[in-house]
Amino acid sequence: MTTTSIPAIATKRIAKSRISEVDFNNLEFGKYISDHMLMVDYVNGKWQEPSILPFGDIMMSPAMLSLHYGQSVFEGMKAFRNKNGDICIFRPQKHSERLNKSLARMCMPEIPEELFIQSLHAIVETDESWIPTSEGASLYIRPVVFAYEPRLGVKIADHFKFFVLTSPAGAYFSKPTRLKVEETFVRAAEGGTGFAKCAGNYGGAFYPTQVARQEGFDQVLWTDAKEHKYIDEAGVMNVMFVIDGKVITPKLTTALLDGVTRDTIIKLAPSLGMTVEERRVSVAEIEEAFKKGTLTEAFGAGTAAVVSPIAAINIHGVDYTVPTVTSNSFQQRAKEKLNNIRLGFEPDVHGWNYIIPAAR
Ligand SMILES: *Cc1c(COP(=O)(O)O)cnc(C)c1O
Repeated sequence: MTTTSIPAIATKRIAKSRISEVDFNNLEFGKYISDHMLMVDYVNGKWQEPSILPFGDIMMSPAMLSLHYGQSVFEGMKAFRNKNGDICIFRPQKHSERLNKSLARMCMPEIPEELFIQSLHAIVETDESWIPTSEGASLYIRPVVFAYEPRLGVKIADHFKFFVLTSPAGAYFSKPTRLKVEETFVRAAEGGTGFAKCAGNYGGAFYPTQVARQEGFDQVLWTDAKEHKYIDEAGVMNVMFVIDGKVITPKLTTALLDGVTRDTIIKLAPSLGMTVEERRVSVAEIEEAFKKGTLTEAFGAGTAAVVSPIAAINIHGVDYTVPTVTSNSFQQRAKEKLNNIRLGFEPDVHGWNYIIPAAR
């Protein structure tokens, strides 16, 4: 999809760009925020006109409802400079759908897809000089919606803000991680908010993750809240396994985040000669596959790293080692294919790329 123009958005430009402060050869994830931000208010029962202004502090009341009762959701996505020099935003429709599911679950007003995508388009185009061009680099996009209304009583807010920030991100090579199957703490229970990208899910996951780190692991492998028998996710990523030559991943439930990377890899797998099973995956099955030697890959899937190889999984106190990733590994091939599609080296048959043509 190529879009040359969107309706004009009121823009207050920064007096002096901060871009010269950025070390593009050493981009620490999330460290630098681009010059501008886009803001939209929800008042009187509707989303108002967006505006673009210099990134900076905003005024808010200490009684703001999101601080007290947690109505706050976000998205995480990326834009690239493709091989033709055009800008590619990856799968904005899918992110829009997920954001609206998160908003609905948190009793927050949905954002029309058109407003969402035009907002992304406008802010990315405004700060297009911040899109890094080195291999594997991208402009990370962070949309957030939160309750802005000041009031102490427990209530659903009537005033919200939607803003979009961007941040240049370098190639992210995740070193293989050591995971622990979590059997004490829970990230999300069925019927809860696990499928929503809401701020509280992260706050609640910090402590179990900190405990796992103190025990020498990098992350936890979350299991279902009821029995701790079935695998949900790996830290803040979806999890995938290759067992007996098939890709196996937990099926979506209300306790799992519907990752765009997960969905993308599932859709790419057939073209890489792999079948995918989306179903319940028990800890016992993984343990047995390790013992039989049929588990050849385990990895996390998410926007930040695309794939993040898992080095070892600790099950009931026993460490099982995952074979090392090679250039022939499914995760490696999937990552390359995905990157090639985004950068325009392979055809975008699924219509995932939202292209903003370069000014010529
Ligand atoms: C964002 C997120 C993911 C990954 O989703 P992507 O759309 O692939 O980035 C997975 N799990 C959790 C809990 C998340 O918050």
